[in-house]
Amino acid sequence: MRMILMGPPGAGKGTQAKFVAEHFKIPAISTGDIFRANVSQGTALGVEAQRYMDAGEYVPDEVTNLMVRNRIDEADALPGFLLDGYPRTLAQVEELDGMIAFTGHALDAVVVLTVDQDEIVGRLLQRAEVEGRADDTEDVIRRRQEVYAEQTEPLIEVYRGRGLIIEVDGMGEVADVTQRIFDALDVVSES
Ligand code: AMP
Repeated sequence: MRMILMGPPGAGKGTQAKFVAEHFKIPAISTGDIFRANVSQGTALGVEAQRYMDAGEYVPDEVTNLMVRNRIDEADALPGFLLDGYPRTLAQVEELDGMIAFTGHALDAVVVLTVDQDEIVGRLLQRAEVEGRADDTEDVIRRRQEVYAEQTEPLIEVYRGRGLIIEVDGMGEVADVTQRIFDALDVVSES
């Protein structure tokens, strides 16, 4: 299974990615998590990424693409992977196409979590308190949503054109959303 989990910031991608990846026995690859790990370890990549992250902007494609390429080349990702937070730009879509084509495989599904905007801001502000993320202040949250709408939402139509989009209602209890994702993916694997 090679899949992408998409949705606006705060849609619950990270939470769901872990359950779905566990179910399919594939790694959940979160670009945001990899960037944060680099920031906390003070690596050169972390120093470069942090200024974009703190402003709610995307890290440049060249940096992000190389990081993902290296990660999906690792042995645990050979049988498949779930991408959480990548691709986020049209240039990243092209790059990912190349990476997957090179392995002789294809993408199986792109799951989009749909959520209510107001609920999202509430969730993100709550997460700011719990996790203390530097990019969860109200201004930055708003900027991250704008950037998502401008640069990432158009990707949905690209993948829809390829027949890969599965929209799943991301509202409500975490376990209910997980079940909806599983049900939707079963439909894919049966068809
Ligand atoms: P996330 O945890 O997925 O919300 O990502 C946190 C931040 O990391 C984003 O706001 C971006 O600054 C950066 N980031 C994560 N994934 C990407 C990506 N695919 N392209 C560019 N920047 C990214």
